[in-house]
This record gives sequence, structure tokens and C-alpha cells, in this order.
Amino acid sequence: MKLVLATRNRHKVEEIRAILAGLDVDLSSFLEYPDIPDVVEDGATLEKNAIKKARAVADATGLPALADDTGLEVDALGGAPGVRSARYAGDEPDYERNNEKLLRELEGVPDGERRARFRCVVALAVPGGDTRTVEGVTVGVILRARRGSGGFGYDPLFLPDGSDKAYAEMTGAEKNAVSHRGRAVRSARGLIEKLLA
Ligand code: IMP
Repeated sequence: MKLVLATRNRHKVEEIRAILAGLDVDLSSFLEYPDIPDVVEDGATLEKNAIKKARAVADATGLPALADDTGLEVDALGGAPGVRSARYAGDEPDYERNNEKLLRELEGVPDGERRARFRCVVALAVPGGDTRTVEGVTVGVILRARRGSGGFGYDPLFLPDGSDKAYAEMTGAEKNAVSHRGRAVRSARGLIEKLLA
């Protein structure tokens, strides 16, 4: 069976490929379909955006498609940046500026009040059929300074509970074992296996 990963984010493609390793599917990504226009992520929730991306790519390619939409929810900021995580610091997504803004917004916030969670919604859409979603959450804290050089996005600032390494200090396998995306995509494996059956 063929399955398209409905993202052009190379980091996500790499992570999802590793988490789905061993499944009997021929994985391609949206990167291999440059002619299909980008999907505008204007939904009010992660779930709506994930469904929109998976649906659009399944309909355009005629193949089952898997999409991920992720948000970082910081308690001290009332759940921001949340669904706006990509464009937190401006209309053009920019990891560096987003991290700077997050550190600035949390300046002076004490250690015990820096709780946050990554929430990842994965949608699986079948062409002409239905779309199912699953969710993965990882809880942790926002660090006071960047740590590590791996990963992407907010990885240098997120320390998951139970770990002494920020996401950006982990290997890909270590991050996938504890991450929001790892949890969500492992749940999605079950849905994919049902499609294969
Ligand atoms: P998206 O809309 O799902 O592509 O993700 C929104 C934003 O969340 C991205 O631009 C990243 O800044 C951030 N993000 C998503 N996944 C991760 C992750 O695994 N680690 C760190 N940041 C992430």
C-alpha cells in the first residue's frame, strides 16, 4: 500500500518515517509532489488543520495521506502559542524568532511555573473515504536558555518530564521514544494496519 506524508517539513518526514519503520507501506512525502499547492493552515484547532492537510493531499494524489499538526501550549501564556506555534513571532514561520519571543514572554517566570506541553494531532485520510485522527501529548517545561543543536522548531527550549535532555539534545530515536509525534504516530500505526488488512 502507498501512503503519502502530507508535509513538506523534512524534519517531520524523517521522524515519521522512523516511527513507521517496519510497516508494509510504500511511504512518499508531499515533497515529492511539488505541483500540489500548499494547504493553508487556517483552522481554529490542530485537529481541523490536520484533517484539512490529510484530506487535501489524499484527494489530490488519490492515495491515503497522513498529516500532523502540532502546537506548543505554555501554561503561563494561557496555552499560547498553541495552534499558532508556526507563526508565533510573525507571518513568516521562523524557528529562531519564535524561540526568542518565547524566551522573552517567559522572562522572570519562575522555574515552577514554566509548564508546557506539545500536542500533536495526526490525521489519516483515505481518498473518497473518511478521515480519522489520533493525538499525542508530551508534558515538560520551557528552559531559560537554548540547549542542544538537533531537531527543529522549539526543540532547544523543551525539556520533557522524566528526561535530563532537551529535545534538541536527543538523537532522533530518543526524541521519537518520548515525543508528542512519536506517541501520535504510534497510535496512527494501528489505523494504518487496519487499512492494510
Ligand atoms: P505545524 O503547524 O504542525 O507544522 O507546527 C507548528 C510549529 O510547531 C512548527 O513551526 C514548529 O515551530 C513547532 N513544532 C512542531 N513540531 C515540533 C517538534 O517536534 N519540536 C519542536 N517544535 C515543533
